[in-house]
Amino acid sequence: MAKVVVIGSGFAGHTAALYLGDAIGKAHEVTVINKYDYFGYVPAWVWVGVGSMAPEKTIFDLEPVYDKMHVGFVHGAATEVHPDDNFVMVDPAGGGEPIRVDYDFLVVATGPRLDFESTPGLGPHGGHTYSICTLDHAVQARDAYHEAIGRMEAGEHQRLVIGTGHPMATCQGAAFEYITNIHKDLVRRGVRDKADLLWLSNEPAVGDFGVRGVHVKQGDRIMGSDEFLLALFDDYGIDSAVQRGVQSIDESVIHWENYEGEYGETPYDFAMLVPRFLGVQMKFIGEDGTDISEKVTNPGGLILVDAQYGLPYEKLKDNPDAWPGRYQNPTYRNLFAAGIAFAPPGPISVPHTTPNGTSITAVAPRTGMISGIIGRIVAKNLIDMVEHGRMPHEERMSHMAAACIASMGDSLWDGSAATIIMYPVVPDPNRYPNEFGRDLFVSEMEMGLAGAWMKRMIQTTFMYKLKGKPGWKIIPE
Ligand SMILES: Cc1cc2nc3c(=O)[nH]c(=O)nc-3n(C[C@H](O)[C@H](O)[C@H](O)COP(=O)(O)OP(=O)(O)OC[C@H]3O[C@@H](n4cnc5c(N)ncnc54)[C@H](O)[C@@H]3O)c2cc1C
Repeated sequence: MAKVVVIGSGFAGHTAALYLGDAIGKAHEVTVINKYDYFGYVPAWVWVGVGSMAPEKTIFDLEPVYDKMHVGFVHGAATEVHPDDNFVMVDPAGGGEPIRVDYDFLVVATGPRLDFESTPGLGPHGGHTYSICTLDHAVQARDAYHEAIGRMEAGEHQRLVIGTGHPMATCQGAAFEYITNIHKDLVRRGVRDKADLLWLSNEPAVGDFGVRGVHVKQGDRIMGSDEFLLALFDDYGIDSAVQRGVQSIDESVIHWENYEGEYGETPYDFAMLVPRFLGVQMKFIGEDGTDISEKVTNPGGLILVDAQYGLPYEKLKDNPDAWPGRYQNPTYRNLFAAGIAFAPPGPISVPHTTPNGTSITAVAPRTGMISGIIGRIVAKNLIDMVEHGRMPHEERMSHMAAACIASMGDSLWDGSAATIIMYPVVPDPNRYPNEFGRDLFVSEMEMGLAGAWMKRMIQTTFMYKLKGKPGWKIIPE
């Protein structure tokens, strides 16, 4: 009987667990270790952060789903992995002695460590800014945002700054969706004229999203996401400042460096800035008791997999095969990483180093959709490995699409959304010999009410799928 252990129950780990439990959960042992006893539908935390969705509508209990799917559940935080001896140590959520969980195959799907520490003054843990990256953070952001609204209603002018809080941040899509939702909410409350909204980001251009932007063919011309979103910002009265790496934040001012190496300041009253994402703090211990993390992770703590690391950007940008297909650690072949936890071989977006030597680079996103697909690929390989001793499945991000439905309010009557679809996420100039390396006919950018319906439908169908309800497998990641 094989033991498969999954650490982390987000889009990647939970998807993997459903496929594993369904296929081999009865005959083998599948166990999930997760810090929380609930699944969080992260994209909806944008709405929680504005106050338009109740936090409890974005989560569900994991244990009943795992009982049904023949998956064991350990509620706690994995603190150590012993890859020579194939076990994980877990601090149980309720306290008490650490638990040892043995495995034959391990999937690390722990998502990001939110690295607020690298930007002094960033984040809700002792800093001055807010985040929507966890449910607690989104609730805190909502409360602070509502206080700012109270000040506007009392006649004060407020400056709201949304974007990225580190020169190497990712996840611009979530922040973009937050600023447009805030705009919509302020209009609805009749206080839009009391607020300045500023988009502050490390992207080379508005709409880059860490993927070198999105481009679509419209008749004879190509439209880029920069043009599409700048027009939208113009329409909404949102200012933008890109090519900026935030260095530190004090009570009322954000300090940044720009591409030219100049230092500047942006005053604010409320700020939601996404931190840099690193790998979670989990030690990898060798058989002699020493720390062997460098055999398993990159310096940022993300798990090394079957990617080609160390290529200069010029060689990486036209080489989709540098991206991993199996998400398997090259040293420990029974260790896999899914979702944000795997180390990408480099950026998709064009990197930039300032004259002061600071890298201001929008790091490659691993969205919810991508994380779910990777979770499925890893699970399918493990199922085949356990049942037939082989791993036939491979899917690189150069074969995955991403859909960003940036809602601007969640109302099904007057809501709206910018629907941006791109294929593939990692450009492949061999298959798509245009200057963008992407399929310009599949890629799409649309604005309208249909997007608001789509966003709601996706949440409803994903929550249905992820609860393992009848027919869950036919709903794609
Ligand atoms: C506000 C917001 C909106 C977004 N909107 C979209 C969107 O519209 N579309 C889209 O495709 N993507 C979106 N994303 C991105 C998407 O949410 C992430 O890509 C996705 O959550 C990554 O999945 P994951 O499984 O890798 O990590 P996570 O979802 O972060 O899951 C990791 C899990 O591991 C657990 N964990 C961590 N460390 C440990 C440990 N040591 N032991 C045990 N458990 C641990 C965590 O508690 C968590 O449950 C959004 C992100 C944010 C922040």
